[in-house]
Amino acid sequence: MQESVRDAPKGHGVTSQTVQSGSLQEAVRAVLPEVVALRHHLHQHPELSGQEERTAAHVAERLRALKLDLVREGVGGFGIVAELQGGAGAGPVFALRADMDALPISEENDVPYRSCVPGVMHACGHDGHTAILYGVAAVLARLREQIPGTIRFLFQPAEENVTGAARMCAEGAMDGVGAIVALHGWPGLPVGQIGVRSGPMMASSDTFDLVVHGRGAHAAMPHVSVDPIVAGAQVVLALQTLVSREVPATEAAVVTVSQFHAGTTHNIIPETARIQGTVRCLSASLRAALPERIERVVAGVCGAMRARYTLNYHFGTGVTVNDPEVTTRLVEVGQEVLGASNVVVLDTPSMGAEDFSVYLEHAPGAMFRLGVGTDRPPLHTPWYDFGDEPLPIGIELLVRVALRSLNAAVAG
Ligand SMILES: [Zn+2]
Ligand SMILES: [Zn+2]
Repeated sequence: MQESVRDAPKGHGVTSQTVQSGSLQEAVRAVLPEVVALRHHLHQHPELSGQEERTAAHVAERLRALKLDLVREGVGGFGIVAELQGGAGAGPVFALRADMDALPISEENDVPYRSCVPGVMHACGHDGHTAILYGVAAVLARLREQIPGTIRFLFQPAEENVTGAARMCAEGAMDGVGAIVALHGWPGLPVGQIGVRSGPMMASSDTFDLVVHGRGAHAAMPHVSVDPIVAGAQVVLALQTLVSREVPATEAAVVTVSQFHAGTTHNIIPETARIQGTVRCLSASLRAALPERIERVVAGVCGAMRARYTLNYHFGTGVTVNDPEVTTRLVEVGQEVLGASNVVVLDTPSMGAEDFSVYLEHAPGAMFRLGVGTDRPPLHTPWYDFGDEPLPIGIELLVRVALRSLNAAVAG
């Protein structure tokens, strides 16, 4: 099935006004062995968010060998900003982004390139994203004379803790960029398919840390205590009404309490209960309103229970909102490369989050899902592996969308 999907009609000669499909596919074929080897190397040597030192050094070394116009390391931590100036006249800057970090999970896959770092693995497929973006740079370097403008490659650290994009942008990664595109490998989609939508694509992600302060006592004498467990339990239940009773049924939001820690043994009522959770929204206005509502519930319930509280609310990353124009271009390119039936226009966004949203505060752009196979285990599990099959598809799509965007901007 995956083969037949891959064999879907190709859009020969329709990629742009200047680059011919044949030369592009030839270039993809030529760089593919190196891209596969790079993915395997990255998969074997995963590094956690904020610690991507060797990964970045390895990628930067390879980028330098491509003789790009710029390879700047150490941007926002271990980020890399690379640039290729086209030879077909001046034009805008089009950016492509890949993330490089891995997760604290022990790999269970039995593959030759299995992680050799205990407890760390590429369980979100960022090895695939990075290898694809390197492949795009390698292909475009070969097609340099046909590029009207500049392509900027952003290799981002620390996506999983949603800090890398903001740090890179603070150090100028998006200065002068006209539009940006990124992909994420998606195990729910067959190889040879992509999924995308205009508008909200991924949710915002914020967190809260709550400490309910009570008064400890012997567990046999609760009347002399202020029981933080009972107060905290009621806070957890009351928080459930924020979405069910205060958010319109047609609008999506999530308030999840994901941690509740209190107490040490059977016969002690503790002093405190610690509660943590995550808040996800699809609109900026709701996102802005929820912290106050959460505090209102916490304050009200704790007050009624004679408890005090400390609440820290942390804004993580915003809603990833795909730009309609960039999305349309992606859909067109996807239909040409993969066939119309292999571009899935998603009905609904994901309540997962991505710090790709930060780039979209600087320029219009879009993120799409790249099918890695329906037989793949879910993301963030010990069995996930991006695979090699999606690599050439990802490269071709990104190359074409970059060229098409620059050509459209120059023509416009
Ligand atoms: Zn992830
Ligand atoms: Zn990811």
